[in-house]
This record gives sequence, C-alpha cells and structure tokens, in this order.
Amino acid sequence: MTTATTTTRDTKVFDLIAKEQHRQESGIELIASENFVSPQVMEAAGSVLTNKYAEGLPGKRYYGGCEVVDQIEQLAIDRIKELFGASWANVQPHSGAQANTAVFLACLQPGDTILGFDLSHGGHLTHGSPVNISGKYFRPTFYGVEKETGVINYDVVEETAKRERPKLLICGASAYSRDWDYVRLRAIADEVGALLLADISHPAGLIAKGLLNDPLEHCHIVTTTTHKTLRGPRGGLIMMRNDFENPFGIKTPKGDVRLMSSLLDSGVFPGTQGGPLEHVIAAKAVAFGEALSDDFYDYAVQVKANAQAMAKAFVDRGYQIISGGTDNHLMLIDLRSKGLTGKLAENTLIKADITINKNMVPFDDKSPMVTSGMRVGTAAMTTRGMKESDMEQIVVYIDRVLMNHDNESELATVKEEINEWMKAFPLYA
Ligand SMILES: *Cc1c(COP(=O)(O)O)cnc(C)c1O
Repeated sequence: MTTATTTTRDTKVFDLIAKEQHRQESGIELIASENFVSPQVMEAAGSVLTNKYAEGLPGKRYYGGCEVVDQIEQLAIDRIKELFGASWANVQPHSGAQANTAVFLACLQPGDTILGFDLSHGGHLTHGSPVNISGKYFRPTFYGVEKETGVINYDVVEETAKRERPKLLICGASAYSRDWDYVRLRAIADEVGALLLADISHPAGLIAKGLLNDPLEHCHIVTTTTHKTLRGPRGGLIMMRNDFENPFGIKTPKGDVRLMSSLLDSGVFPGTQGGPLEHVIAAKAVAFGEALSDDFYDYAVQVKANAQAMAKAFVDRGYQIISGGTDNHLMLIDLRSKGLTGKLAENTLIKADITINKNMVPFDDKSPMVTSGMRVGTAAMTTRGMKESDMEQIVVYIDRVLMNHDNESELATVKEEINEWMKAFPLYA
C-alpha cells in the first residue's frame, strides 16, 4: 500500500531539477532579476506549510488551525517592517505583479489614468503595458529618459503629470541603473493630486541597507518582489511607512473612513488572491531575517561595488552603458556601437554558459524580440562570493564570446574555462 508520503519517487521531475541545479552551478548568472537563496530559505519554501489554507490575515482567518501559520506570517510582517522602517506591510502577494495589481485595485477605478516609467526605457509590464491588466483596465501614460543622457528629466515628468492628471504616479523600473528622486516625485504627485507608488522590485535589497535613496519616506505606497536583490523566495509584498485615511472617502460599515492599509489588505485578499502561500511566507520570513543581518549589509555593499567594477570594465572595452554607469546592481548596455543585437548576444553568450537577457534600450530601433541591448546585474554572482576582480574577468569572457560569436570552437573553449572557474564558487555544496 502506498500513502501520500510513500509514493514512488518521481525521477522524471527530480532528474530535471538536478539538471537545473547543475546548470545554475556551472554557469555565470547575470540576469539582473535573479539571485540564489540560502538553503534555509529553500527548506522553508519546501515545507509542510504548503498544506495549509489560511485565507485572511494573522488573527483574522477564515479557516481553523492557523495558530502556527499566524505566528509565521506575523514574523515575516514584523521583520520586513523592521528592515524598511515600515509601519504596515502585507506579505501575501504571490509575486511582484500581484502586489501591483492589488495596489491598482485598492487605489483606482477602471479607466483611471496612471503615469509610469516607459516600458521601452526600462519600465515594467505591470506599469501600464497594453498586454497587462494595468494597461487594459486603466489609462496608461508614460515618462521616459532623455535621449542624450539616458537619465530621467523630472521637469518632463512634472509636465507630463500636469497634462495627464494621473490618479497614480508610479516610479521604479526593471532596467534603469540610476537612483530615483523620490522627494521631487512626491512634490509632483502632490501637485496633481496623485498617489505615489514606488515599485522597488529590483533594488529592494540595496534600499533595505541604506545604499540607495529611501522611497518609504516619500512614497505613499511601496511594492517589491522578494526574490531579486532581497534574495528571498519568489514573491511580492506591499508596505507603507505611514498609514493614512484613504483619499476616496471609502467608509467602514460603522461610518469611519477606512485606512489605506485596510484597502490594500482587501486589494490582496479577497481582491486579487485567494489563500496565501504560507510556505513561501515562511521562506520570506527567513530571508528577511537574513537581510536584517550585518552579513547582508556586506553583501549589498559588494553587489554595488561589483556593479561599479563591471560597468568600468565594459566602458574600458568600448561598450556603451545607458546613462554612462550605474548607481545600483544592474546596467543596460547598448550593443549597436559593437554592431551586435541583444538577440545575438543572448544566444551566443548562453553557448559559453553566460546567462544574460536581451533588452530594449531607450529609443530602440529594433523589435522586442531582437533588441539593441543587453541587461546584466551582479546580485547573483555576488551571492556566489565574487568580488570586483571577478567582474573584470566576466567582462573579459563576455567580450571574448561576443567578438567570436561565429567561432564555435572558441565558444566551446570559453564554456569549458567558465565551468572550471565556477568550481571555485560553490553554491549548494
Ligand atoms: C520583476 C518586477 C516585477 C514583477 O515581479 P514578478 O514577481 O515577476 O511578478 C514588477 N515590477 C518591477 C519593477 C519588476 O522589476
């Protein structure tokens, strides 16, 4: 007789997982949105908590047996509040996209105007793309970077906001290497009567340790993923430093104006999600605990230092970085000066076990399937223990691969060298 706990091992799936682990361990991972979590984060994510239904919030659930998961979720909430100096957080969003959708549901009516960072300049799909709910159910408008500098001009953001009158002004991006002026953005939001949302999905880990400007002080609402520089399990969350009465006059049954936190909680559940993933929330709690440590400060400092070293190495070899450099963990490289496309770079680098993603550059003349750019980040390789000199070595390899993109035997040689080199940076020993 077999029970659920004694079924035959599914070798098909686990063989594939082993293959994927080998891929991760033997190559150079430069996708800016990826990272490697600790064994204890994975242990929590793979725990018995996956069995539990817990709709609602700690202490206010629609199911019995939630005494333990209540403590786990509360721990995650308390730790993220401490990490960012927030007074309120909801750790249930299944992803960054879910967190943003919950905010839209809480703050907007269908057809309302939103103003976000241009997707083709490095913004995110969930900030108004026509193929995303944010662009289908709301009226998306955009600001971008300047062609000459590659940097956002806040005077233009202000002009655009005054013209479009958004209900929600969104800052944050997936491929912007510069820090944000939240003070100025808040002034613009106040001027047009908009709420200001910062989506810090990418740089959250650096912001948490004080290495970039603090959005929580100035933005009404902050969303983030938990799996990029924050180095937790795949997921999202919403937080605020200061709660406030919702500006839409939505009242409780008793007649009090509902707090924004209450609208946001409802935006997550029952607005856009059902039962929370308590196993992932436990993994978030573990990751937030790690992020509170001094070791994580050292990690975040190294991520930034590595990005600086990598940017310099690229520039030294004649590559063109949008905006000329980076303040965070990533950079966007315009490959046109090298006569290459993003598609060619991505497809060639993978042959040498270097993983990057092709990316549109601002004012790109190529399609999203081809692109003129590539995006690289240092969060993952810094987790593996790499330092500045290793970043220079990576750029040497990238350059060697790209300059030999039609030389298969050279690509094979580089791949072998890289597989050997990566043994010096063990991941899950
Ligand atoms: C990655 C990212 C998201 C989406 O996160 P998912 O977990 O993939 O849904 C949202 N916003 C920004 C700015 C991002 O970079």
